[in-house]
Amino acid sequence: MNRVLVLGGGQLGLMMAEPAARLGLVVDRYDPERAMLLPGTSDLPVPVTWEQCLERYPVITVEREAFPEAGLSARLAGSDRCVARGALAVIPDRYDQKSMLDRLHIATAPWRTLDQAEDLAAAMAEFGGVVVKARSGGYDGRGTWIVGDGDDPGAVPASELAGRAIVERKIPFRRELSIVGARNPAGDTLFYPLTRNWHVDGILRLSLAPAQACADLQPRAEETLRRIMEELDYAGVMAVEFFEVDGELLVNEIAPRVHNSGHWTHEGADWSQFDLHVHALAGVPLHSLNVRGPSAMINLIGTPFDQAWLQHPGVVHWYGKEVRPGRKVGHANLTATSLDGLREGLRAWADVLPEGFEAVLDSELSLG
Ligand code: ATP
Ligand code: MG
Repeated sequence: MNRVLVLGGGQLGLMMAEPAARLGLVVDRYDPERAMLLPGTSDLPVPVTWEQCLERYPVITVEREAFPEAGLSARLAGSDRCVARGALAVIPDRYDQKSMLDRLHIATAPWRTLDQAEDLAAAMAEFGGVVVKARSGGYDGRGTWIVGDGDDPGAVPASELAGRAIVERKIPFRRELSIVGARNPAGDTLFYPLTRNWHVDGILRLSLAPAQACADLQPRAEETLRRIMEELDYAGVMAVEFFEVDGELLVNEIAPRVHNSGHWTHEGADWSQFDLHVHALAGVPLHSLNVRGPSAMINLIGTPFDQAWLQHPGVVHWYGKEVRPGRKVGHANLTATSLDGLREGLRAWADVLPEGFEAVLDSELSLG
């Protein structure tokens, strides 16, 4: 194998290209919306056919879950060359994903289907606060409606969502955490330490790793992700997002790909999640992992590039995408030798962090 096709034309595939080149692999991306190939790290689109793809790419991976139903990407995602094939049959539909978790007896937020508009009131009577989620197509909080206990659910388009949404109990979590790990075709696995994630309005703003306040939950998190990867016969990097409630982990959702909450590993670990992903795809042995120090990842959202960032501590990763409100256009990684050093470094980034980030830092870092 010397070529990998990534389904999806975004930054995650780009970030796979460089570690792949070190293994002698060429990574090209396929942009499903334009039905075009983006060769290497270029943004110059080239038309390509299904036959050419199969001839050229013995391994196909993905950088997102959902693809237009008709089209080349959907067919390639279903091909036996696609290492995420099993995951793509389950993960993109939240009904299938939650059903799999229930079948595996993996704890998740209690849920019901929203078959008709009236099911929302019934779920609110049962759960109190609820979160309504479109079965497919949601991301960064889009397709998700949070309704507090006793609040008016008027903003939820329940009739429109009937038959294509689920309703979950609103979990009074203490923290949001994620685990990122890899599995190769031989079944070997490797995991990063749990990461603490801070979302505001459904969008990830800040990740801190290792989440040392939750270190005792690491074995359970690894076991959960290992079972899911085995169930789906998966190769590559996968992430699981959790809610932590009273020292227990509830799965929020699964991402069968490199994950935003794993971006800190670029500078914060000796092997990044992108290294691990291509190693797993290439079937090379998974090395042991070492974390370099307390690390943070700040998402840069809907903001133009600012030269001043280059004076701040840390490393900026800029995606070169058109800047739009709410769109993730880059991230900054900070790794320090001490928690105090990390806190100090993060203060320089206060203008791109939402209010309240100091409290999140305190709750996570004061325990060090
Ligand atoms: P992503 O961009 O990670 O794919 P998403 O928009 O698909 O996210 P979720 O991760 O399910 O959707 O939800 C977004 C955020 O909404 C969560 O990170 C969490 O902060 C909040 N949330 C989701 N489900 C619940 C729940 N059951 N109880 C409380 N908060 C929730
Ligand atoms: Mg999520």
